[in-house]
Amino acid sequence: MGGMMRALVKHQSGFGAELKEVSIPSAGPGEVLVKVKAASICGTDVHIYSWDDWAAGRIKPPLVFGHEFCGEVVETGEGVTGFEKGDSVSAETHIVCGRCPQCRRGEAHVCTFTKIIGVDTRGCFSEYAVMPAGNLWKNDPTLPPEVATAMEPMGNAVHTVLSGPVAGRTVAVIGCGPIGIMAVAVAKASGASAVIAFDINEYRLDLAKKMGATHLVNSGEEDPVAVAKKLTGGWGVDVVLEMSGNPVAIRQGFSMVTMGGRISMLGLPLRAVELDIANDLVFKGVQVHGIVGRRMYETWQQTAGFLTSGQVDLKPMITHRFSLEEYQTAFEQMMSGKSGKVVLYP
Ligand SMILES: [Zn+2]
Ligand SMILES: [Zn+2]
Repeated sequence: MGGMMRALVKHQSGFGAELKEVSIPSAGPGEVLVKVKAASICGTDVHIYSWDDWAAGRIKPPLVFGHEFCGEVVETGEGVTGFEKGDSVSAETHIVCGRCPQCRRGEAHVCTFTKIIGVDTRGCFSEYAVMPAGNLWKNDPTLPPEVATAMEPMGNAVHTVLSGPVAGRTVAVIGCGPIGIMAVAVAKASGASAVIAFDINEYRLDLAKKMGATHLVNSGEEDPVAVAKKLTGGWGVDVVLEMSGNPVAIRQGFSMVTMGGRISMLGLPLRAVELDIANDLVFKGVQVHGIVGRRMYETWQQTAGFLTSGQVDLKPMITHRFSLEEYQTAFEQMMSGKSGKVVLYP
């Protein structure tokens, strides 16, 4: 194809990023060139933009970052089958090896050699992006691009919620960032009898309500454990979905879960967290499950099903839309804590 395009580049170590003119990449063997219709900003992108310790240790500038997108196939490389010009696609961001024991037993989401698009390889905050064909997911053509950009992060929510039974059970969602509020909607759609949303941010609790939470708890104002016990007749909640990564909230999650309940953990604490393993885990017979990525591609099928059936409506959580040129405002909005999903249009 050739030519130039605009791309958001992490140009150097330190805060920020730069919009640059770069050449349009071409699709090599096994790759697909995609025209990016919409891309959304993930917490990971904020780490890269603001350049925290994690980013400094992992990212090698210059890098076109971003990994949540919806685009249209414009060119397929040698050996690619199953994709045609004009197909609407998003991408699984974990590039896996296919050879390690995990991959070979169908557990590729925990591949030993995972590389992440937009972190370890070139991402999607640009007019065009090249993706490995094996990572592409064909979207239902009726899904609006700004909704389809959320396929990947919503997959995290779906994986977390559905890693155990939820129908007819009480569910606590701790942390109401974008993945937390998508988990609220997925738990509701999956038949949870109550979905109790916890956060310290009223803006986010309001979004949780719009996404279907049956109860809202401001953990800064009320005792979350006491409220959870009260709402469940004193027994504690059946399923705790930990999305905050906050040590205090994590301990509260272990306190509010019922005997023999499940805790699925997606939130990332910055450092080691102290837990009362004897009393809050072993004697309670609690099932604890770390959630990484999405099951390939069972989670994608489930996520697509929730969206195309209308069982989950993401519109309330897509709160801000910007052109790629307005990236500074977009990142400021993300960092303010007063946003759901922020979508960029290249
Ligand atoms: Zn992400
Ligand atoms: Zn592998």
